[in-house]
Amino acid sequence: MRKKLFAANWKMFKTPAEATAFTEAFFPLVAGHKSAEIVLCPSMTSLGTVIAAAKGTHVHVGAQTMDYHDNGAYTGETSPVMLKAIAATHVILGHSERRQYFNETDTTVNLKLKAALAHGLVPIVCVGEHREERESGKTNEVLELQIRIALEGIDRAAAKPLVIAYEPVWAIGTGLTATPEMAADAHKFIRAEVAKALGSELAASTRILYGGSVKPDNAAALCALEDIDGALVGGASLDPKSFNDIIQNGC
Ligand code: PGA
Repeated sequence: MRKKLFAANWKMFKTPAEATAFTEAFFPLVAGHKSAEIVLCPSMTSLGTVIAAAKGTHVHVGAQTMDYHDNGAYTGETSPVMLKAIAATHVILGHSERRQYFNETDTTVNLKLKAALAHGLVPIVCVGEHREERESGKTNEVLELQIRIALEGIDRAAAKPLVIAYEPVWAIGTGLTATPEMAADAHKFIRAEVAKALGSELAASTRILYGGSVKPDNAAALCALEDIDGALVGGASLDPKSFNDIIQNGC
């Protein structure tokens, strides 16, 4: 009942010309594959190019971050109103790189989540523990706090589009992935926390993606798990063939 979702997080890679080369190769590969929701998240300068290219296809386009104000004196930022105006449909919130390098906190994730939902964007909220936290047995404690604060004051009726991405920080860009057992445990725990905050009905329909060194050869084993509803893919999403292989293997 939960449609699988595969999101490409291109991070700070690809100029508009490089993004166009990707979409020209990628769209024919996924044209016949409509059972999954596919989202490309390019950098801000390639958003317009990719949105124009995706017009008429079933591929969605989202941003990698945004501010929570509608507009104002916030130099360098992009608002949900602006994303909607150019027909972006999704937005990644609270990615660990945003938390680590750009001072994003659980509280700002909460404000951004409210703004995304209010403006009709599909939010992909990232949570995940650092290596030391896992090694010291604190994984669930960290996830509990991140989810509780992110979902504080979220209106159940508005939360339907919510997507969560479990991204263990130690697995991002490292070639290390959570074992299927680790991922299964974390996803089950996250779903239970969503149920606490928003009720079990909503938790049952919330997509929870796995992220962290997802590749064509591990996508099938991860996505076969009951609580894993797709993937948020960084490095391997930069290449059209490998992102397509992940989608095909993960469905
Ligand atoms: P990775 O990145 O697939 O390169 O590990 C995932 C992410 O940061 O979303």
